[in-house]
Amino acid sequence: MKLIWETRDLELLKAAVESANDAIIITDTQLSSPGPKIIYVNPAFTRMTGYTYDETIGKTPRILQGKRTSRELLNRLRYDLTTKREFFGETFNYRKDGTEYTVEWRITPVYALADLEQKTVKFWVAIQRDVTERRKTEEELREADRKKDEFLATLAHELRNPLAPIRSGIQFLNKQELPEPVMKTLAMMNRQTKHIIHLVDDLLDVSRITRGKIELRQENIDFRTVIKSVVDAQKSTLQDSSREINISLPDEPASIRADQTRVFQIVSNLVNNSLKYSENNLPIDISLARHNNGFLFQIKDYGIGIRSEMLNEIFNMFSQAKDVLHRAQGGLGIGLTIVKQLVEMHGGSVWAESEGEDKGSIFYVWLPAIFEDISESGENNNDSESSASDNGKYKILVVDDIVDGAEMIKIFLESEGFNVACSFDGRSALSVLDQFQPDAVLMDIGMPGLNGYETNNLIKQRSRWKDLPIFALTGFSNGETVERLRNEGFAGHFIKPADLEHITSTLKNFLEKREDI
Ligand code: ADP
Repeated sequence: MKLIWETRDLELLKAAVESANDAIIITDTQLSSPGPKIIYVNPAFTRMTGYTYDETIGKTPRILQGKRTSRELLNRLRYDLTTKREFFGETFNYRKDGTEYTVEWRITPVYALADLEQKTVKFWVAIQRDVTERRKTEEELREADRKKDEFLATLAHELRNPLAPIRSGIQFLNKQELPEPVMKTLAMMNRQTKHIIHLVDDLLDVSRITRGKIELRQENIDFRTVIKSVVDAQKSTLQDSSREINISLPDEPASIRADQTRVFQIVSNLVNNSLKYSENNLPIDISLARHNNGFLFQIKDYGIGIRSEMLNEIFNMFSQAKDVLHRAQGGLGIGLTIVKQLVEMHGGSVWAESEGEDKGSIFYVWLPAIFEDISESGENNNDSESSASDNGKYKILVVDDIVDGAEMIKIFLESEGFNVACSFDGRSALSVLDQFQPDAVLMDIGMPGLNGYETNNLIKQRSRWKDLPIFALTGFSNGETVERLRNEGFAGHFIKPADLEHITSTLKNFLEKREDI
């Protein structure tokens, strides 16, 4: 440490302090009321606060404090100074003209150079920086981020509406006898539409997750069943049907308490990635085994692999290990973010392993086990192959303001033998009831004029129709919506773009059971 100071050094120091852009304030060490007195301020202090040197000397730093200066921070400051500690904090201060600014503030004890043991504090030196702009920018960024999330949610939601009739139209055409090239084109359109729906659903999910709007509908399920159905679903969409997917599952049920749809989504995302990021001629190995009071799902591919520094990073939002130009397959880089969030919401964990580029990857998902019997769900009994002629006796009223959507459902249900009428708003739905006498209603929720909830209420108020089963058609599937639909007496709901086969079998099963009672 330099002990002997020459005049030149002092000149240097003075110039530095006077030219600094941070406000520098030196006070004495008087801690009892009214507090330390200011004995020096540099020109930057005047620029920041509006107080001149002469107006400040002899005053206490309280001249800068006001309504929104944090009391808690001042208490901590007092404590730090009393115990000869350095203080650092951020709060609001006030300029001479009363305007507010955010200050980042560091106070350091100053000892005499000869006081090597630092026994007696001679002064306190405070360095203050106006960070108002920085904080404002940060707040603007946060606001922009919030707006982006809202925009993504709206975008995804809006994209779902036009997708619904497109998907229904393709499903309908698929059922017709058409020449080979048309069927091939349809198959391609079907694959691409599914791909868009998948992306839109991911977008919607990720925006819901970031806004904390996902709720799990947990039930006792068999993890094996979900894995099997994901693999079946994937196989049916594979362009190359010879693609080898090896599965090894335990013989005993793998009972977990989970939201079946979400577990499907988790497994589906991982299977999809393994297929996407490895060559078509290479297999995928899937296994499930008991592990630490839970079940460990493992999926291994022999594809492009992942560099070690990316193994954690890929689970972050919009993170993709290769740059976009290298990627043959589209994606938004949010699939794994959703997987991670969903797994964690189930009390589980997910991680990846890879020995590096072109060495393949293994993804693991561990979910906690339950030990009760599984009875409610598990395998889906698939007795719903509808024979079209049976349905002729059932009348369905479809209410949807999107005319294409309603018409497409009508065409499809009619091809399945149902007797169908459409209304394009709530009022006209109310007026056709007595005339058409439906056995069930498919009701869009978001409609101008009377929305689906209001129309449902008005229908139920009529004693003749109070038990009419009304199924909601909705773009929203969050817990709040489902809860509200249930409370308002809807018989069930279908998420848009709805799967028409699913609607058909649900309506058929529901109406047949009702007849049995
Ligand atoms: P997307 O596939 O849409 O890009 P994901 O969130 O599903 O988004 O994956 C993020 C990134 O992780 C991918 O872009 C890819 O770089 C990497 N990745 C995911 N799965 C695999 C895999 N099985 N093999 C190699 N890389 C993978």
